[in-house]
Amino acid sequence: MTEIKKAAVIGAGVMGAGIAAHIANAGVEVLLLDIVPEAAKANGAGRSVIAQTAVEKLLKADPAAFMSKRAAKLVTPGNIEDDLEKLADCDWIVEAVVERLDIKQALYAKIDAVRKPGTAVSSNTSTIPLADLTKGLSDAFRRDFLITHFFNPPRYMRLLEIVSSPETDAATVDRVARFADVKLGKTVVRCKDTPGFIANRLGTYWMQLAVGQAFEQGLTVEEADAVMGRPFGIPKTGVFGLLDLVGLDLMPHVQGSLERALPKDDPFHATVRDVPLIKTMIETGYTGRKGKGGFYRLNRDHGGKVKESIDLSTGQYRAQEKAVLPEVDAASKHPKALLAANTPAGRYAANVVARTLAYAAVLVPDAADDVVAIDEAMRLGYNWKWGPFELIDRIGAGAVVEILTAAGEAVPPFLAQGKPFYRVENGRRQYLDLDGTYRDIVRPEGVLLLSDIKLASEPVLKNGSAAVWDIGDGVLCFEFTSKSNSLDEGIISLLGKTSKLVKDKYKALVIYNEGSNFSVGANLGLALFACNIAAFGEVEKLVAGGQQAYQALKYAPFPVVSAPAGMALGGGCEILLHSSAVQAHAESYIGLVECGVGVLPGWGGCKEMLTRWQTDPSLPKGPMPAPSKVFETVSTATVSKSAAEAKELHFLRPTDGITMNRDRLLADAKAKALALVENYAPPKPQDLTLPGPSGRVALEMAAESFAKRGIATKHDLVVAAALAEVLTGGGADHTVPVTEAQVLELERAGFMKLIRTNATLARIEAILETGRPLRN
Ligand code: NAD
Repeated sequence: MTEIKKAAVIGAGVMGAGIAAHIANAGVEVLLLDIVPEAAKANGAGRSVIAQTAVEKLLKADPAAFMSKRAAKLVTPGNIEDDLEKLADCDWIVEAVVERLDIKQALYAKIDAVRKPGTAVSSNTSTIPLADLTKGLSDAFRRDFLITHFFNPPRYMRLLEIVSSPETDAATVDRVARFADVKLGKTVVRCKDTPGFIANRLGTYWMQLAVGQAFEQGLTVEEADAVMGRPFGIPKTGVFGLLDLVGLDLMPHVQGSLERALPKDDPFHATVRDVPLIKTMIETGYTGRKGKGGFYRLNRDHGGKVKESIDLSTGQYRAQEKAVLPEVDAASKHPKALLAANTPAGRYAANVVARTLAYAAVLVPDAADDVVAIDEAMRLGYNWKWGPFELIDRIGAGAVVEILTAAGEAVPPFLAQGKPFYRVENGRRQYLDLDGTYRDIVRPEGVLLLSDIKLASEPVLKNGSAAVWDIGDGVLCFEFTSKSNSLDEGIISLLGKTSKLVKDKYKALVIYNEGSNFSVGANLGLALFACNIAAFGEVEKLVAGGQQAYQALKYAPFPVVSAPAGMALGGGCEILLHSSAVQAHAESYIGLVECGVGVLPGWGGCKEMLTRWQTDPSLPKGPMPAPSKVFETVSTATVSKSAAEAKELHFLRPTDGITMNRDRLLADAKAKALALVENYAPPKPQDLTLPGPSGRVALEMAAESFAKRGIATKHDLVVAAALAEVLTGGGADHTVPVTEAQVLELERAGFMKLIRTNATLARIEAILETGRPLRN
């Protein structure tokens, strides 16, 4: 089976460009082709300008489309007239041109004429069935053709819907699916060849219903979004906020296409209604965030910034009003109570949610084989916390059936059977199949989830902040369980106990959790509390305790592999710096952000970063370059925008691993730890050569120049001076090596000096209260 070593994407629009960037993120070369514009045909120049401009836009995209500068170099722009022959070198060709059957089909004929036999060709179509796309094409083409439906933005949305037909070569589908899973990090959901596949079909149904019912129940947009968001585990954008985000103008296309393609008796048609307000908004350019505004906008007229929203009854903007709905507040833990409330909000929730869940129940087996696929598609394609069947289980199928019956709606038999859709049996998660039996949820090979392990076992150690699990083959997994995975004394003390246990009975330790962030750092609330009662001794004890715990990890006689995903900040970053190795999820945002809150890295972060930069062969020799580099990164609280970028910043080593698929992270980390077990020897302590006071003055001057340019604030200079003192070795004489213990002592002293200042405490207070850094 040929591996995918080179790919092509045709159509350099929003999706094609994003897909090409993400294939490049996987380290694979990719050709990005678009049409030759008419003007270029006439004068012969700029024939690839569309794809070239797309790459330029990708480089500026926010959030970033590329994970590293290296990835950006892997995309080669071109055009479908001059570069078509190059498709013969590609192992996978993705079509992402406009959603028009005639254009897509004409392109396929051209592709078929040049591609090498066996090359997979896939379409990113949102709505056109595969059977229509391949009509009239060669048998060989049909064998290699499938649909790969990415979501926008392709780097960040984890869902990939794949559709094939009985004619498609199973090996071709498996090859693309495996590449998408392992290399692109997508969760592949196999869908039937039905219009809109899963997520858009159910998602559009839900959105249309939610918009229509908001008018019917006379709710404001704020009220509708408050109901349709958090209580049901749906992002707080609810429905109107989501429409603003995706663009109001996109909706009529998807809706129209589904309406044309779905059979007449499909419940979808009942949700379709003409909303004159939306029509007017689109016509006048109020298409959402990318247009002049949407249901919400920030009115900047008269130099102000006023949050406004549309009054659904008049179509005019007015000041935003916070929804006051006690039944919604009460529903934060019990969505069922909201569905039962006899208020406009309650009726709105019941009408929209019950029907949406009923529609989900008719999509099995029409659009997907099982409930797992549908739940996964809605969780990953629409960022719902629970898929529809998980939601039914939370609410109770009986309650949903009652609402439907009362409204005179048909109850799908799959919903009426009354059994929960999921259960845990003998430690295994199972789902309900159409025939009424339960089947195990089988994870793909190489996927290991702590949430599964937890169903089948008890922690081997545990306290209020962390738990330790046996993940098999002699490996323990240390999981933070504190609020937001913040680091505190409980974690520090359990790390000590865990080390002892691994030494006695196990082979290796993995530090990993399944929170959205690995750890955002030390528990600042506790630190602030201690400072406010002047318990500085306690704070110093925590700093020293953390240093010892991290040093103990670094010099443990067994391998320690940390496996971050999401944010690993401050102390969360320092634990990575002290691990034998790191296996990071590609979407890891790593940084030492302490200076932002007015302190400095005090758990060995300065020490480890100095060591890493000092051994970087690309830096000039001498005591100054390493402290300068660390100062640059740490004083500005720089956070990597990906794991690849974390390598450039030395938060990760060149030898650390990167896993693209979040679900494969634990298995990869465990494998990395086991690979290190044989003949494992902890690192040798490395002394540092630091420049001393002259270096400190140089760094302080650099900070002052920032202050003069208005980039650094008054307290930034105080923090920078303390950091400079640590990084240059305090009073060190650059001819005498500085030990790790000495740098740790400097870190402690610098940290304690800063935490005693009012300006630092004000920063900590601000971040805890507002979540935003205070620039004092
Ligand atoms: P787009 O309008 O941003 O880009 C389409 C690109 O195709 C344009 O650059 C156009 O010049 C190019 N093109 C047109 N005809 C071509 C041809 N014959 N050969 C080569 N290039 C050609 O569209 P988009 O939003 O990126 O959508 C592309 C596809 O992806 C569509 O099938 C769409 O349904 C699907 N899709 C879109 C989204 C989304 O959120 N926008 C999501 C999933 C799937």
